[in-house]
Amino acid sequence: MTEIESFATTLQHYSTAIRTISDPDELRNYAVDGMLPRFAIIPETVEQVSQAVALANQQGLTLITRGGGSRLNLG
Ligand SMILES: Cc1cc2nc3c(=O)[nH]c(=O)nc-3n(C[C@H](O)[C@H](O)[C@H](O)COP(=O)(O)OP(=O)(O)OC[C@H]3O[C@@H](n4cnc5c(N)ncnc54)[C@H](O)[C@@H]3O)c2cc1C
Repeated sequence: MTEIESFATTLQHYSTAIRTISDPDELRNYAVDGMLPRFAIIPETVEQVSQAVALANQQGLTLITRGGGSRLNLG
């Protein structure tokens, strides 16, 4: 199991309703400077944000926050 698969599985365990994206074609919409994220999370509650951030920290994963993406799309 890759670290992203392990992250995804644990996250779903903590927060069954959290929306996530792992499909490479969909992840292209979240690229920054052509760098493709390996995974995207679309949290809808403060609790989901805090669970995702805490778990990413625990697993030493880099996390980029995104709002409308209008600035990140500039690179
Ligand atoms: C055509 C165009 C015109 C623009 N005109 C202007 C302008 O006139 N004035 C201006 O100031 N800017 C302008 N911008 C830049 C941009 O739109 C603004 O900076 C805007 O505030 C970015 O908001 P966003 O939600 O799209 O941020 P994003 O692009 O999603 O993110 C921008 C930064 O904020 C961080 N971030 C986003 N959401 C969060 C969060 N919830 N918590 C912590 N960090 C977060 C991201 O990690 C990233 O570092 C323009 C951009 C474009 C494409």
